[in-house]
Amino acid sequence: MSGTRRLIVAIDGPAGAGKSTVASRLAARFGLLNLETGAMYRAFALKANENSIDPGDTVALGQLAARTSITLEPTSSGNRVLLDGTDVTTRIREAAVTQAASLVSVHPPIRQWMVNLQRKLGADGGVVMEGRDIGTVVFPDADLKIFLDASPEARGERRYEQSGKSSPQEIILREIRERDDRDRNRAQSPLRPAPDAVVIDSTHLTLEEVVSQAEALVTARLAAPA
Ligand code: C5P
Repeated sequence: MSGTRRLIVAIDGPAGAGKSTVASRLAARFGLLNLETGAMYRAFALKANENSIDPGDTVALGQLAARTSITLEPTSSGNRVLLDGTDVTTRIREAAVTQAASLVSVHPPIRQWMVNLQRKLGADGGVVMEGRDIGTVVFPDADLKIFLDASPEARGERRYEQSGKSSPQEIILREIRERDDRDRNRAQSPLRPAPDAVVIDSTHLTLEEVVSQAEALVTARLAAPA
């Protein structure tokens, strides 16, 4: 490793564990590009919805992927997401897209396509990449792997607060459990910590405590021999 610019930091974990915030804080502090792979699955799910493609139809999704271009443009306020050249950054956060992203991401051909794209995006290093399978599949040789976890109840509560309490908390919790279940039990690249990941359970930690633990890990990695 020749310095901060080359570092690859993988941050994985379930929905609502704080990955995005931690990744963006690490990116800002250490001069890394923050790449949100969930946004790529979301952009593809948006296109599948717009084309009325059944999220369970592997063949139709594979054909759609072959004529889809997804680009992430990291900015200081998050990733700008382009789907076939159109900015979909806001639309991919809609509830219907969130559910569809969880469904389309179980299909092996879709995952393989995404993994190839993500490897290209991170190939030069100098990135903090977040998702579900970054440390296990996309960059198994990442310099640092962090697996951020928290109880479903704590994650549901955070999402409820972030949503401005716009949907009932029980519904948010149920959706989180459904997404967890699909992510953890799918056949290809299920959500789990890589054997050499540092697991941070943030159930009883403040965001600042999690960020400072993650920063200490990056600092230690930079100080260690390559
Ligand atoms: O992280 P985010 O909630 O934006 O991800 C949307 C969905 O994409 C997740 O529910 C998950 O099923 C899927 N995903 C994935 N692998 C990744 C990133 C996201 O399967 N690396």
